[in-house]
Amino acid sequence: MESRRIRREKKTVTVMIDMYCRDQHNGRVEPGLCDECRELHDYAMQRIDKCPFCLAKPTCANCPVHCYKKDLRARVREAMAYAGPRMMRRHPILAMMHIMDGFRTVEAPARRGK
Ligand SMILES: [Zn+2]
Repeated sequence: MESRRIRREKKTVTVMIDMYCRDQHNGRVEPGLCDECRELHDYAMQRIDKCPFCLAKPTCANCPVHCYKKDLRARVREAMAYAGPRMMRRHPILAMMHIMDGFRTVEAPARRGK
């Protein structure tokens, strides 16, 4: 079962990769991600699904376990570094929530409620 928390993380990552690809690759002639970003996106979703911390997870950037493969990790970091500062302007609520989630630590028990 997917929690709001996980759905939000997936949405944030999706929006960020989308923003990065649209601005940095191929000028988005067609809707959707380029092949490279599609692969990166699918991989990121898979990592979130497999995350051992589940509900208690911090955001990936703040996680002690670096579960990404090396090359994909470099790519996702590049995309996040590009999209991060732009998130505040275009998706302020999502960006805020993401920052809040980043303050979680894996030692802490999952918070109840929303
Ligand atoms: Zn792309």
